[in-house]
Amino acid sequence: MADVDAYDTEAYAAELDRRDPLAGFRDRFLVSDPGLVYLDGNSLGRLPLSTAERLAAATAGEWGGGLVRSWDHWVDLPRRVGDLLAGGLLGAGEGEVAVSDSTSVNLFKLATAAVDARPGRRAVVTDDDNFPTDRYVLESVARRAGMELRVVRTDPDEGLDQGALAAAVDGDVALVSLSHVAYRSGALADMGAVNEIAHRAGALVLWDLCHSVGAVPVDLEGTGSDLAVGCTYKYLDAGPGAPALLYVRRALQDRLRQPIWGWFGQEDQFAMGLAYRPRAGIERFLTGTPPVLALYAVEEGARLLVEAGIDRLRAKGVALTEHAARLAAAWLAPLGFRLASPADPLRRGSHLTLHHPGAAGMVAGLGRRGVVVDYRQPERVRMGASALTTSFTDVYRAMACLREVAAGAGDPAPSDTPSLEAAP
Ligand SMILES: *Cc1c(COP(=O)(O)O)cnc(C)c1O
Repeated sequence: MADVDAYDTEAYAAELDRRDPLAGFRDRFLVSDPGLVYLDGNSLGRLPLSTAERLAAATAGEWGGGLVRSWDHWVDLPRRVGDLLAGGLLGAGEGEVAVSDSTSVNLFKLATAAVDARPGRRAVVTDDDNFPTDRYVLESVARRAGMELRVVRTDPDEGLDQGALAAAVDGDVALVSLSHVAYRSGALADMGAVNEIAHRAGALVLWDLCHSVGAVPVDLEGTGSDLAVGCTYKYLDAGPGAPALLYVRRALQDRLRQPIWGWFGQEDQFAMGLAYRPRAGIERFLTGTPPVLALYAVEEGARLLVEAGIDRLRAKGVALTEHAARLAAAWLAPLGFRLASPADPLRRGSHLTLHHPGAAGMVAGLGRRGVVVDYRQPERVRMGASALTTSFTDVYRAMACLREVAAGAGDPAPSDTPSLEAAP
């Protein structure tokens, strides 16, 4: 930029903020401490003001006033909110997405449905960089089906090795389940290529979109994806414990059966019949009574993201992590940091991870200075950029603070040393 020459100044970051077409969205969130630098929206997104209002109104009016009568318009919320996500953020069609239960539970439901649909096959494939809950659930699903869980080795910084995946996927494999954006490094998997590897072997694919939805474009239909799950409390800003999305490709819906036979998946629910007969369509993947208030929060969060547009969200996410990477190269590499994310922004999601032996103490030191980031095992600082609420000035301040803390810490130190506190 001609008017501000040095990229490593706060003035430059402020200029990027002035030119940011999404900057105005930050005012539509509760920012109760303007001094707080929050780079953890990929763990828990900020609270949209419209959500606080919607929840207050629905609590008093629909619950307090309408009472049980409100179920007439609550009952189809899992599907309605699913449709909003499907068209706006996931590249899926109407009736292919529902919002219910947690990511872990949806993973169990869809993974079980998938292995049951491939009788005679003996293996489930995932990778060792997948999120813990995914690995645990898949281990349970494989064991219950009498199958083997094949765990592909993945570089924790660079992401999935497609060759290693292809070598593990043969005609014995019922299901391949991976994260689209790796929770630690942010590495972005090639959805179309992975689907192709699995489909060639006759396996189904189940994607975890927790760090993708609302941050990177997802084209479930275009990539021929079978199944997916994902959180709504990260980039979707729907609040702690908000229910998760699940996606089932339309052509598969009536061929799959999920294992938790609840009454919300039952055909003619209020007939209270004796036998379980799954509904047609995406609703057969529901279980029990949906969390109505939390679903409203998902709807409000999704509306903001859809209004901003996934292409603009992605462009800003790339610009924010690129700014962080540039400052890290200049300031932090000389202090012993190494990039623990793919260097190419198109090969990563919306967070950036740095490795340093003293990362744990530094994350604590940042926290004491009002900069919230994540520590991730082993020895990594993870910084999330939420395009609606993170500013370039936030990124600048976080990196400047990390430089101070790292310089003051000297050797890798335990988290509560006086030297950390005393650093300027
Ligand atoms: C956050 C996250 C989860 C969380 O699952 P819950 O059931 O909501 O606890 C699962 N998978 C991935 C990849 C995540 O990042």
